[in-house]
Amino acid sequence: PHDLNRHDLDDILGTINEEVRQRFGEGKLPDYIPSLADVPEDRFGMALALPDGRIHAVGNARDPFSIQSVSKVFTLTLAMSAVGDELWKRVDREPSGDPFNSLVQLEYEKGIPRNPFMNAGALVTADVVLSSYADAEATLLEFMRARSGNPEVGTDEVVAKSERESGHRNVAMANFIRSYGNLDNDVDAVLGFYYLQCSLRMDCVDLARSVQYLADAGHCATSDVQVTSAEGATRINSVMMTAGTYDAAGDFAYYVGLPAKSGVGGGIVAVVPHVMGVCVWSPGLDDKGNSLLGRYALHRFTRMTGLSVF
Ligand code: GLN
Repeated sequence: PHDLNRHDLDDILGTINEEVRQRFGEGKLPDYIPSLADVPEDRFGMALALPDGRIHAVGNARDPFSIQSVSKVFTLTLAMSAVGDELWKRVDREPSGDPFNSLVQLEYEKGIPRNPFMNAGALVTADVVLSSYADAEATLLEFMRARSGNPEVGTDEVVAKSERESGHRNVAMANFIRSYGNLDNDVDAVLGFYYLQCSLRMDCVDLARSVQYLADAGHCATSDVQVTSAEGATRINSVMMTAGTYDAAGDFAYYVGLPAKSGVGGGIVAVVPHVMGVCVWSPGLDDKGNSLLGRYALHRFTRMTGLSVF
């Protein structure tokens, strides 16, 4: 399967695109962040980014969307670069089996979130990034522009505001973690940075390029930069596999078989280790908050290419 050529990949993407378009309407838009419910549901895009810089894309692969929790991959990378294994003293790396916005395990675990991909863990990761970089917001923006090769990458103020106004659960979570002493910065600063990362607007091509370093031992083809070590990339992929899609991580491993990270904006990035970075997007979600058709597309993709890591 590793010598799939351009023609094969374009054919496979074309088939997936046709299949997915028959199923528009099956997912549900998230209504707990009001501005994300305004997006048209009948959209699907998919992009593949190879280490030689080649891109294959189909459908709405150039429509920008709110990347939401997909951003947690990049803040995890920044946090690991800054503090290394010290990070794991403050956040665990176990699958949770609970929804992404769950607080329930925080009390038993004394403010140590189960993994960096649930909201609780992403808040601690955001805190580490805030403490580690002089201008964390500029660092993150620069990181995303360099990885994607798109200097226009920015945030969506409307989405950030909508989240700030409706994020009561995240406020509770941040305060709860803080009560255990596991946030160094002000709760408001941590939440502000977290909403900023979630409100980044990017498209499938941007995001496929942005995760490609995880498929090439930490080397980013777009910027020709070693973003993390080969070991770092392996570690991040392993956490994506076990926790990147929350309480559906088992199902993702079973059907898709790739490290993946989803967001409630309908995007999912996936990594085919040593082969390519992938991004799919379709706004309708399943009951776990993952893109329903995005997951279906990834499932079809690994079935047709034989590229599941298993
Ligand atoms: N910003 C969203 C939230 O905090 C991110 C959740 C997600 O994408 N799963 O609820």
